[in-house]
Amino acid sequence: MNKKGLLIVISGPSGAGKGTICKSLLESQEFWVSVSATTRSPRNGEVEGKNYYFMTRDQFLDKIAQDDFLEHAEVYGNLYGTPKSKVIEMLNSGKNVILEIDIQGALVVKDNYPDGVFIFILPPSMEELRNRIINRGSETPESLMTRFKSAYKEINYVSKYSYAVVNDTVEVAVNKIKSIVVAEQCRVDRMKENFTYSKEGLIHEQFYD
Ligand code: 5GP
Repeated sequence: MNKKGLLIVISGPSGAGKGTICKSLLESQEFWVSVSATTRSPRNGEVEGKNYYFMTRDQFLDKIAQDDFLEHAEVYGNLYGTPKSKVIEMLNSGKNVILEIDIQGALVVKDNYPDGVFIFILPPSMEELRNRIINRGSETPESLMTRFKSAYKEINYVSKYSYAVVNDTVEVAVNKIKSIVVAEQCRVDRMKENFTYSKEGLIHEQFYD
């Protein structure tokens, strides 16, 4: 029987390094990172279909009407959404699917899919977070201010997540996430639905597939 993959939700403030972490996870065959749709304009170097599916507000609203999103949210004045069908297809094929989404979206997914694994990425310090956002050089002064302010608010939501990972070094953070995934895959309550009992008790071969 083909085991379903885990749905892994990664959130954290702008500049925490979620993007770099997801890129690194994608190097492992077992992970697939969902590509979101957005109404935001592409930044320098961003590629259609790789970083995002860029679309107009009208196109996005059409997709909402067609129930094409697993979740969607307005972030910093732009719409972002997770295309539903591809995520389901990849989970069914056994891939661990990563959604790099904001807190509003993560909370919607948590309501609809409590079996998901919810991970919050924290910066090593607020000072370092500021430096990372500034050094990215992609934001206007107003957008920088919005992102700093939001970051302070967003960090309070860490308590809604199951895991917090401090992104001091990308390699260490990625290894922590991989360890979380291994631990989640070993949880007995995830296997329970496949338990079969005989007169002698549990048929335990099912743990060894
Ligand atoms: P950025 O504009 O920096 O690429 O992303 C801004 C925020 O939108 C980030 O917090 C990112 O995680 C979030 N985001 C990206 N894609 C999605 C999505 O599909 N759904 C939701 N809810 N948030 C998203």
